[in-house]
Amino acid sequence: MPTIIYYRNKCIGCGICFEMQPELWRLSKKDGKVTLLWSVAKKDLFILPVNKDLEQQCREVANACPVKIIKIS
Ligand code: SF4
Repeated sequence: MPTIIYYRNKCIGCGICFEMQPELWRLSKKDGKVTLLWSVAKKDLFILPVNKDLEQQCREVANACPVKIIKIS
């Protein structure tokens, strides 16, 4: 199962991820960073397994992030 790994601390809040994939990402009004919905926090990482059929879309989002803090494993 593909997994999204997100380094939230380094998010600059550009909005690309939630524009491309609004079902998984939300902009936090608290700190201006994006939250990966339903993810589990592990130290400074947020981790979310996704269905195989979402993998390609997730890879496109990861590639579009300007600071490259979204990884797919
Ligand atoms: S694309 Fe990257 S930097 Fe931009 S809001 Fe999403 S996670 Fe943050």
